[in-house]
Amino acid sequence: MTTESEQQSEQQPQTGPASSDPQREPRASRDFPGMGLVKGLATTFKTMTKHAHTVQYPDQPPELPPRTRGVIALLEENCTVCMLCARECPDWCIYIDSHKETAPAPPGGGRERTRNVLDRFAIDFSLCMYCGICIEVCPFDALEWSPEFEYAEFDIKELLHEKDRLREWFWTVPAPVALDPGAPDPKEMAQAQKVADKRLTAQKAAEIVALADGGAAASGQPERSGPGRSGPAGGAEGDG
Ligand code: SF4
Ligand code: SF4
Repeated sequence: MTTESEQQSEQQPQTGPASSDPQREPRASRDFPGMGLVKGLATTFKTMTKHAHTVQYPDQPPELPPRTRGVIALLEENCTVCMLCARECPDWCIYIDSHKETAPAPPGGGRERTRNVLDRFAIDFSLCMYCGICIEVCPFDALEWSPEFEYAEFDIKELLHEKDRLREWFWTVPAPVALDPGAPDPKEMAQAQKVADKRLTAQKAAEIVALADGGAAASGQPERSGPGRSGPAGGAEGDG
């Protein structure tokens, strides 16, 4: 009668790795001494003629894709302090301070308006995990990726970039990739074009009115004081 441990010890040799058996080694590597060296040299000579995938950084800067996630840049003028980026950041490494200012009512009428003024915008790159969520959620394109990556510091506290430094990164953001030929304009451009067309039409209308008024004054006819208003009193003045 055999115990359970004896049964296990009998089974172990059958389940052991087959490669540990010297009889099962590949015949070629046993038969020819120095075969491994020959194989290694063959690999060396083969790769010597190929293009190297490494670069001699920092003497040779790497060619990075244009949308590389190097550092986050801020365009302060576009930021409305909506706080979306700070709320969505999974690491809570965006710090924003602001205050409200009251803008006076416009001269033509209306009411006073309040607006947010950005006091502080900082990103702690020692906590940031470069997920890009803040850039995705910003509704005003105030945040962008820059491919710059050379901002390592000896002091970890220096990795807290305030808004002036984040602004400097913005000048290194590459231009957007051109649209495919035949692609429709982005909706922002269509909207801007609509506004520009409206302004041009209003400007042309104003020029036509000014020309008409100038022609009327030259011919001694009364000037129009408003749309559809050229009263007899004005005509009397012009005749006089
Ligand atoms: S990239 Fe991600 S972790 Fe870094 S600041 Fe933006 S949201 Fe936060
Ligand atoms: S989401 Fe954009 S606009 Fe809003 S606070 Fe962040 S950077 Fe500013």
